[in-house]
Amino acid sequence: MLTVNAYVATAATEPLAPTTVERREVGPHDVLIEIKYCGICHSDISHARSEWGEQVYPIVPGHECESCLKGEEQYCLKGNTLTYGGIDKDGTITQGGYSTHVVVTEDFVVRIPEGIDLDEAAPLLCAGITTYSPLRHWGAGPGKQVAVIGLGGLGHLAVKLAHAMGAEVTVLSQSLKKMDDGLRLGADHYHATSDPATFEQLVGTFDLIVNTVSAKLDLDAHLGLLAVNGALVNVGAPAEPLSLNVFSLIMRGRSYAGSLIGGIRETQEMLDFCAEHGIGSEIEVIPADKINEAYDRVLASDVRYRFVIDTSTLA
Ligand code: NAP
Repeated sequence: MLTVNAYVATAATEPLAPTTVERREVGPHDVLIEIKYCGICHSDISHARSEWGEQVYPIVPGHECESCLKGEEQYCLKGNTLTYGGIDKDGTITQGGYSTHVVVTEDFVVRIPEGIDLDEAAPLLCAGITTYSPLRHWGAGPGKQVAVIGLGGLGHLAVKLAHAMGAEVTVLSQSLKKMDDGLRLGADHYHATSDPATFEQLVGTFDLIVNTVSAKLDLDAHLGLLAVNGALVNVGAPAEPLSLNVFSLIMRGRSYAGSLIGGIRETQEMLDFCAEHGIGSEIEVIPADKINEAYDRVLASDVRYRFVIDTSTLA
């Protein structure tokens, strides 16, 4: 066993704190990864604060760090092994990347291409693949109108990726506060969802809308922005159920779908695509003792655009 430094959540209402965790012995088909950086995903907060159902504690969050036959391991019918809070092959509970090392099965290791700095690469391993996969699946590319709802961690990468794929990209943000950033990241258009005129002006426009918002939205209003046969894909995972009027779908042949991260093969494809197009995450690197502050800032939409923990500060 390897004892490594980490940061842990012990209860939904307690701040995260330094700890140590045990990593399993490195078996014949395992790889020991030294973690340099780990992104803070909104999902880490939802897990740490038990928003998605009862969380088993203690839990070390962090899945923007590590490195089944169809290449869609995330949809494994026997249940996937989550980076943290999952059951590992030795029966223990997996613990995540707010930590200095992790042991993983060799099939679940990816290669970070030359040309992407490790701190900017860390968020690609969740936020990047979570947006790349639906953009590819629903055919974002030249001649396609793509909208991204929410310019946060996932949203800003969705904008960069959709732009690099050749689509015409629109950001739908709560306000115009981040408009300059959105346009710099590759958006062609930027609209505020707090302005009712947005929903009149853009009705029937988009082939694909990727919803990255972590809160409940008026789905019918947003579905109305889809063109005939367009699709709205939810990657945002609010704790509350969402509802919609099926006529928002039926009358224009629209689809409403969901998507979970991406498989390992597609994750490698995404990393290679990012290297080719010079795409990394926009980041603010923080020491481990700023994790709780960073959580509060993510919840206040005060992040430009991903906090990344420098794990050398975990000592
Ligand atoms: P984030 O950085 O907090 O970004 C979410 C963005 O949503 C915010 O920046 C904000 O953008 C917008 N937003 C926040 N509250 C809102 C509200 N009340 N109404 C409207 N818009 C609001 O979060 P993230 O890390 O990108 O994660 C986004 C969601 O994806 C989370 O629910 C996370 O759990 C989920 N997720 C899913 C997967 C998957 O596999 N499906 C993977 C990773 C994460 P504006 O300020 O521009 O409005």
